[in-house]
Amino acid sequence: LGTLYVVATPIGNLEDLSPRAARVLGEVALVAAEDTRHTSRLLRHLGLSVSMLSLHEHNEAARVEQIDQRLLGGESIALVSDAGTPLISDPGFVLVRELRARGRRIVPVPGACALVAALCASGLPTDRFLFQGFLSPKSGARRQRLKDLASREETLVFYESPHRIRDTLSDIAAELGARRLVLARELTKSFETFLEGDAEALLARMEADPDQTRGEFVIMVAGAEPKESADATSVEAQTLLAALLDE
Ligand code: SAM
Repeated sequence: LGTLYVVATPIGNLEDLSPRAARVLGEVALVAAEDTRHTSRLLRHLGLSVSMLSLHEHNEAARVEQIDQRLLGGESIALVSDAGTPLISDPGFVLVRELRARGRRIVPVPGACALVAALCASGLPTDRFLFQGFLSPKSGARRQRLKDLASREETLVFYESPHRIRDTLSDIAAELGARRLVLARELTKSFETFLEGDAEALLARMEADPDQTRGEFVIMVAGAEPKESADATSVEAQTLLAALLDE
């Protein structure tokens, strides 16, 4: 029986491809790629010539059977996306869910992931975070989701594209207020930038320097202030209980 390897690829800097990922890509019979043209550039860079199969959100369900047949035939397969870790705001979930349900061997080959890269250098709390991926492209749905997240105390992490970065920052300003925000742009690339401030301040910064709206973004927002602590409530309850017992 073959193995499905879930292989992370770089998010910009090619040096982030691990030696293990390069070896696995060279050893498998087939690479299932989100965009075969994109991945063929990476394979060429590695000096590899491997057969490829496209696997994207529109054909993923239909590919499951085909890929499973090849695994059953003893071939190993690597799943990759255009950048970073497959399944993280990228295709692959349906395939992995189905193959795991069938008891196939699935092995992760970890590496770059924009969310982790951004968070670990942000200075925002990393002990608990809530990854939201992309918000809706529709403003109404985006605002509603932000409203739903407003009381969460974890660091909030979003992915965003250059087309919508300003709209999303405006909605964050409206729904989450003046919280501390860290914006990671073009991670691992030449123009990697971390900007800090509340959403209004970052919008002003983009207004002044339109270059700051180019590239790919991870938006990280401080969680809500903790609600009145349970300790304070229990002290109150204990005082009340003591008074009642006295009576
Ligand atoms: N699977 C990828 C991962 O592991 O991070 C994410 C794929 S998702 C389709 C693409 C989004 O990830 C971008 O719009 C951006 O929000 C974020 N992203 C990817 N590469 C990035 C980079 N080099 N710098 C900042 N954000 C990045």
